[in-house]
Amino acid sequence: MLWFTEQHTPNVRFSIKVDRQLFSEQSEFQRIDVFESEEFGRVLTLDGYLMLTEKDEFIYHEMIAHVPMCVHPQAKNVLVIGGGDGGTVRELCKYKTIEKIDLVEIDERVVDISKLYLPKVACALEDPRVHCYYEDGLKFIRHVEDEYDLIIVDSTDPFGPGEGLFTKEFYGNCFKALHEDGIMVNQHESPFYQEDAYAMQRAHKRICHSFPISRVYQVHIPTYPSGHWLFGFASRKYHPVKEVNWQAWKDLRIRCRYYNCPLHAGSFALPNYVEELLRDVED
Ligand code: SAM
Repeated sequence: MLWFTEQHTPNVRFSIKVDRQLFSEQSEFQRIDVFESEEFGRVLTLDGYLMLTEKDEFIYHEMIAHVPMCVHPQAKNVLVIGGGDGGTVRELCKYKTIEKIDLVEIDERVVDISKLYLPKVACALEDPRVHCYYEDGLKFIRHVEDEYDLIIVDSTDPFGPGEGLFTKEFYGNCFKALHEDGIMVNQHESPFYQEDAYAMQRAHKRICHSFPISRVYQVHIPTYPSGHWLFGFASRKYHPVKEVNWQAWKDLRIRCRYYNCPLHAGSFALPNYVEELLRDVED
């Protein structure tokens, strides 16, 4: 019997029974594995860390894309950093109003392998509005100014190739790369286990330093450590909930399995212990 096991803390492990390993390769940047499982369908892992499963990826990708798009429905130019599996791009491509999506993924092999093994996730990567750049997002953003309406940081965790995407320099450059009403959303780690909570506090402190509006919203992802995950919503102008035109979003008739407008509003209401963790690092 074959099991994929991820160590969530020194004292906690999470395992999925897998039928077989479909793919394994050490790329220039990380080890990439794809497994087939009965419970979660196909599973993509990078350096042994679970990135997505076919069964629950819709939660992550809908919540990272539709929350900012509902707040800023006029967004035309979007930058996705990381996200080489294509799930975030798939959700963004549901908006006819988006004219251009730049995908900056450090590892071209993640894109190739996702197209081959995760076609339901990668299905929009061939959309003519999508332009792929195989570069480090930290370097790419240094030379961009006043270019994007929305930046989505769909990264790995703050170690290995993803480390630079959690730095003050990076967030400052994202601010500069956005139009004056632009929004940045990022994968913001989890508040539950201590090491993840430190990482999320560090990210929050740094984002608050760069953006006038910086909030956090929560989401339930069964295969991530503790299942309780956060996204960061950083904005130059728009508040994530106040004055949002919910009806305009509903009129777009975009079909989602997780996201809806009341859930969007509710996801910014946080448990007290999370509010306290955030407050501790806010000036
Ligand atoms: N969509 C996934 C999910 O559901 O959790 C998130 C993980 S996505 C596969 C993260 C991607 O970020 C990986 O493909 C990784 O290669 C990429 N990445 C890591 N560091 C990067 C960097 N510095 N610049 C650009 N992409 C990076």
